[in-house]
Amino acid sequence: MASKKVVTKKAEPKRTAPPLETLDRLHAIHPDAHCELDHANAFQLLCATVLSAQTTDVNVNKATPKLFARYPDANALAKAEPLDVEPLVATLGFFRQKAKSLVGLARALVENHGGNVPQSMDDLVKLPGVGRKTANVVLGVIWNTPDGVVVDTHVGRLATRLRWTKNTDPVKVEKDLCKRLPRERWNITSHILIFHGRRVCFARKPACDKCGIRDACPSAFKAENVGRKPARSPRVLTVVT
Ligand code: SF4
Repeated sequence: MASKKVVTKKAEPKRTAPPLETLDRLHAIHPDAHCELDHANAFQLLCATVLSAQTTDVNVNKATPKLFARYPDANALAKAEPLDVEPLVATLGFFRQKAKSLVGLARALVENHGGNVPQSMDDLVKLPGVGRKTANVVLGVIWNTPDGVVVDTHVGRLATRLRWTKNTDPVKVEKDLCKRLPRERWNITSHILIFHGRRVCFARKPACDKCGIRDACPSAFKAENVGRKPARSPRVLTVVT
C-alpha cells in the first residue's frame, strides 16, 4: 500500500492588515506603552534623551537620579562645568561628550528661553545636541504635539517587518509612518513599537510564535534578517539625535 505523504502546513500570514488596525492590536497588547526614560518634567526628559544616545534607557535611568538631584533645573546645570557633570554620567558611553552637551544645552535654555524648554520644533533643534528625534520625544511625551514619529532602532525594525516602509533611512521611515498613521497617534506609535520591539519582536530572534499579531504580519516566522541594522563601524557617536 502506498504511504500517504504528510504535508505540514507552514504558518503564513493571511493578509497584510492596514497599519492603524495593527497598531490598535499592538496597543491592546501593550496598553501601558510609554516613554521608559524616567523624568519629572520637560527639562529632565530633554537631558535624559540626550544621554540616551548609544545606550539603553535602563542605563540612563540609573544615572539620572543623582544628576537631577544635583542639578534640578537648567539654571543649576548652566552654572556647572562639564568636568563637574562627568562623574555623574560616567557610567554611560561617551560621557565626556554628553556632559559637555548637557551643560551647553542648559546654558542655551537659560540664555534664550528663560531656563524653560521651548515647545516648538524650530526652537528645540536650535539647542546644542538636540536633533529632530530628541525634539519629537519631548514634544510628544510632554505636550503630545510631536512633529512626526520618533524613529529609533526598534521603530525602524518593526516598521520594516510590518511593511509600513521600504526605507531604512530614519527620516524617510518617519515620513512613511506619518503618511500612514493619523497625527493624533504619532506619539503613542513609537512607544507601542518600542515596547513590542523590546519584549517580543527582538532584533535577532523575534518571538513570532508568541506574537499577538503574527496573523497580520508579513514577516512572521521569517523576520530574523528583516529590518536589522547592518553591523556598525566601531565607536561612532551620533551626538545630535
Ligand atoms: S514578532 Fe514576528 S510576527 Fe510579531 S511583529 Fe515581529 S516579525 Fe511580525
